[in-house]
Amino acid sequence: MATCLVTGGAGFLGSHLCDELLRREHRVICVDNLETGSLVNIEHIRSPSFVHLNVDITEPYFIDEQVEVVFHLASPASPIDYLRLPLHTLKVGSYGTHHTLGLAKAHRARFLLASTSEIYGDPQEHPQRESYWGHVNPIGPRGVYDEAKRYAEALTMAYHRQQGVDTTIVRIFNTYGSRMRAHDGRAIPTLLRQALADRPLTVFGDGSQTRSFCYVSDLVRGLIALAESGQHEPVNIGNPDEFTLLELAEIVLEVTGSSSKIVHAPLPTDDPKQRKPDITLAKELLGWEPEVALRDGLRLAIEQSGRARLLGDDLG
Ligand code: NAD
Repeated sequence: MATCLVTGGAGFLGSHLCDELLRREHRVICVDNLETGSLVNIEHIRSPSFVHLNVDITEPYFIDEQVEVVFHLASPASPIDYLRLPLHTLKVGSYGTHHTLGLAKAHRARFLLASTSEIYGDPQEHPQRESYWGHVNPIGPRGVYDEAKRYAEALTMAYHRQQGVDTTIVRIFNTYGSRMRAHDGRAIPTLLRQALADRPLTVFGDGSQTRSFCYVSDLVRGLIALAESGQHEPVNIGNPDEFTLLELAEIVLEVTGSSSKIVHAPLPTDDPKQRKPDITLAKELLGWEPEVALRDGLRLAIEQSGRARLLGDDLG
């Protein structure tokens, strides 16, 4: 059994990671100030091996017991959040990552940074391999998130190279599942909410831009496999099945049985045109690949979230 620190553990991905680590009989210390997460995501956890600390990681913080693995997930992650919290997003990526890396160093712990496909920006290479350096607008509205994550990657490699910390970096591509927030502005929760409410489904632009969607249990399995490996360089974790946004809206209509219409809205600034991970490295290194197809994952998300949560009628 290892003691794992999960920053952002009361968020969407972090809470699923806490569940899986506990299922594998690890001790879990969840550090989360509930900025974009919620106690609703962890209130079902009854294990004595779990503790939640309400801590803001942009301030220095310490953990009073030995920690073996640090999963650093805390950060606003949806466009609605980081556009509302631009300075906080930059501070979490910089100060928050510094403090958490310092903690990993003090504990001689393995450290995993949750980075993102957004560091590739609006990519000029398709699909995106880890060796691609990206095409990011540093001064656009999304720059606060993309550059915070790029800085966090640079910082992580510096702690590894100069301070000898055992670090690794996961570049997460769009992930979905239960506990997504209905109003967080990301494509899947928005389309599900609209379909279940029999409202028109909003597709940005002409809907020809592509995304790939990874089901949360596949993602969590990838995070743990990477943490357990000896890898230091970044690894893409995501589902390479690629869909246009228009196809996604049609699949949501099919899965929900909704008869809503599809309407179009203006494209957000710097919206990437294509997004698809090359997962060759994850396959070779970790023996990892996704198992849950989009339609199955959407049905699971609906079943596990429940209608009220997807409609945003709950308190989460
Ligand atoms: P989320 O907003 O649900 O979770 C983030 C958590 O971090 C929240 O619980 C929030 O309260 C916490 N947090 C924020 N600032 C904090 C602070 N200063 N101190 C302590 N806790 C703080 O987002 P998510 O979708 O679960 O994303 C988790 C991580 O995965 C993020 O780092 C995100 O960049 C990365 N990621 C997610 C996706 C995705 O599709 N969900 C894709 C790429 C990368």
